[in-house]
Amino acid sequence: MEGKLKILIVDDEIVDRMAINRDLKQTDLDIEIAEVNDAKSAIAILKTNNFDCICLDYLLPDWNGLELVKELQKLAIKVPAIVLTGHGNEQIAVELMKAGVYDYLPKSKISPKILARMLKNTIRIHRAEMLADSANQKLRETNELLVTQNQELERQRQRIEVQNQQLQEISQLKSEFLAVMSHELRTPMNAIMGFSQMLLLERHGILTDKQQQMTKRILQNGENLLTIVNEVLDFSKLELGHVELYLEELDLIELVTVTTEELRSLAEKKDLSLEIDLKLARPLIVNDGNCLKRILTNLLSNAIKFTDKGGVKITVSARDRETIEIAVRDSGIGIDRANLSDIFEAFRQVDRSITRKHSGTGLGLAITQSLVEIMSGKIEVESMPGQGSTFRVILPRQVVKLCPI
Ligand code: ADP
Repeated sequence: MEGKLKILIVDDEIVDRMAINRDLKQTDLDIEIAEVNDAKSAIAILKTNNFDCICLDYLLPDWNGLELVKELQKLAIKVPAIVLTGHGNEQIAVELMKAGVYDYLPKSKISPKILARMLKNTIRIHRAEMLADSANQKLRETNELLVTQNQELERQRQRIEVQNQQLQEISQLKSEFLAVMSHELRTPMNAIMGFSQMLLLERHGILTDKQQQMTKRILQNGENLLTIVNEVLDFSKLELGHVELYLEELDLIELVTVTTEELRSLAEKKDLSLEIDLKLARPLIVNDGNCLKRILTNLLSNAIKFTDKGGVKITVSARDRETIEIAVRDSGIGIDRANLSDIFEAFRQVDRSITRKHSGTGLGLAITQSLVEIMSGKIEVESMPGQGSTFRVILPRQVVKLCPI
């Protein structure tokens, strides 16, 4: 055993103290010894000094060994004790061990060898217990910390849940407001357009050239505004989950051809080519014709809008037996990698400056993506700034679920 061991002898008999002292010194241990003759003096010295072990007589003038050991425990003085007594019996030994005494020996059996063995064992066990105690204490502290952290996490989770609910309510209110507003705007817009069309028919009087021009501009602007209002209305309906697919069997080749041709004049105005490449052997699919047309129109009109040179090509093909792919490729301005993930978000436009060249609400792709998703499909984009973009819509050949979102 390493280092000097500090041992306290507690015995009222001077002769016994001397005998124990002598035996301790004859052991192979390096020992420093202190002596007291009653329990209260033992407590006093133990309060201010550390000892590796106490050798305790059972019968002391003030308390017995058992009482002293219990008092030490009450005072949280952690020192191992061995009881050396001339008066003990087995019953006392058992009680002492139960109270936490490490060992017990009748004084008649004391020898340097036995004392050394008892001390070594006692001190080793006590040190191991102290190590285990401190490990346990650390575990308890860590546990308490974890419990506190868990409680804090739970409080944060609850706060976030409340905030989420509030956000959802606000978002719901926003969508409802947009839906009501755009719906209300449509009625006067239709009236403005209807009356300007009537004026242009000149049933109520001939218009001068200037009046004709101005009325045509009212009609044109009205149409533009109505497109925007309709986009906002569609988007808010999608957000509120008020869009339902009306599934029917339809000819995809016909739908793509008709939709593309409707937009040809836009491409021609910009001197762009507009190609259709149909590679679909079985053109019949099941989907909502209006929603699909909406997707095609959004992608094609964007492709034309963001292209100044070259052209646009729409390709329809089968990915496999169950899936079709519609790809709209353009040779336009392209999209920077950093913006690719944002463009599907509502009101996101790469160029958000007031002076931007291209008009639009920033809702087209958000609407397109939502529609593709309720058709259980997906939309992908590849793009190279300055070289062009390709938007791919992958859809099941048969949209089976009529999913109200
Ligand atoms: P909008 O066209 O009304 O601005 P969209 O939601 O349709 O809104 O598109 C969002 C943004 O994505 C556009 O403003 C544009 O910056 C970018 N974008 C979409 N399609 C293309 C395309 N074919 N080429 C380049 N940029 C595109």
